[in-house]
Amino acid sequence: MIRSVEELRDLKGIRVLVRASLNVPIQNGIVSDATRLNAALPTIHFLLTRGARVILASHMSDSVGSLRPVFDHLKKTMQLSFVDDVAGTRAHTAANALKDGEILLLENLRRNAGEKANDMGFAKELASLADIFVNDDFTVAHRKHAGVILVPTLLPSYAGFQFLKELEGLTPALEPKSPSLAILGGAKLVTKMALLQRLLEKYDRVFVGGALANDFYAAKGYETGKSLVSGMDIAKKLLGNSKIILPDEVTVLSANDSHDTPADELAPNDIMSDISVSSIRALQPVIEQARFVLWNGPMGHFETGFRAGTNELAKIIANAKGTSIVGGGDTLSSIQNLGVEDKFEFVSTSGGAMLDFLGSGTLPGIEALEQSTKIS
Ligand code: ADP
Ligand code: MG
Repeated sequence: MIRSVEELRDLKGIRVLVRASLNVPIQNGIVSDATRLNAALPTIHFLLTRGARVILASHMSDSVGSLRPVFDHLKKTMQLSFVDDVAGTRAHTAANALKDGEILLLENLRRNAGEKANDMGFAKELASLADIFVNDDFTVAHRKHAGVILVPTLLPSYAGFQFLKELEGLTPALEPKSPSLAILGGAKLVTKMALLQRLLEKYDRVFVGGALANDFYAAKGYETGKSLVSGMDIAKKLLGNSKIILPDEVTVLSANDSHDTPADELAPNDIMSDISVSSIRALQPVIEQARFVLWNGPMGHFETGFRAGTNELAKIIANAKGTSIVGGGDTLSSIQNLGVEDKFEFVSTSGGAMLDFLGSGTLPGIEALEQSTKIS
């Protein structure tokens, strides 16, 4: 069990280090999508109402990114200060100067190499800024970084509301109700291997679409033309698994046009770019009969307009009776503007962390919070 931030009562005089998910897109020095910042607010507001002194920490892309644009954005709606330091003297001076109900934002954690190196010295400097740690960033919970897994060994640690929302939203997908269906698309089978293995253990049926299907076609010895094939050797080992459903028909981009074709009839110059609407129709009854559907990965190369398969799939899942959980960075981009997102039971925004969580049933950042319950 992990502790929820909600257990914290009177925090007057207490410094709380909050790892928040502030790694938002920046364009020309300005926050271009504040969705994640808004999701971080409930935990921050909760701590403030308890009288805490809040020290916000996050990474921003990699070692050169800055959180200053995030500071500029946040200060429009709340009072906070910013220190251009991670865990050095200036950060300590600023943290010590905080009064009850005040907020300090630290610079990008990854500016200190100790963060990614999972360095205990850095973790100690960071932890010494505060009395309590709250992890509200599920999106990094799969990383063995100092500010994810070491700080909870040094401070009594709690999960924030956004972290808990992801954890609670995704947990039903670990042991789905039968009949269950997992739908896996996207590209690069190697990044989804652990996930696919586990899905094949826990789900009744697993549909493989997107470029991942090419790996299976190649493993079967089909002509795959110029399609993206990344993990044929992995797919070979899974060919005999009767839970796997592959699309029978695909949409290819050929020299002159794009058209639908049986999956085993590609021409040498064809590029498999989507699964056809008729393949989705064939899957429709399985989706509609499922009590539980998990979906990750676009069905086609949506960036170049091959959206039909993904759109159709999204609508069918959204309208089906069973519980449905959807997630993945590109998956969410591919279904933006369809207006179906609120028809899923849960939409995960934690990207790679979601894939790892569903593939292994836990994450280093979750385990660290569990262990930290021994510290009071
Ligand atoms: P997510 O981020 O949702 O987990 P992935 O990162 O695994 O999804 O995959 C997304 C990528 O897969 C997209 O860039 C999309 O274009 C690509 N993709 C899906 N189907 C195909 C295909 N048939 N051919 C090439 N690329 C594809
Ligand atoms: Mg992706």
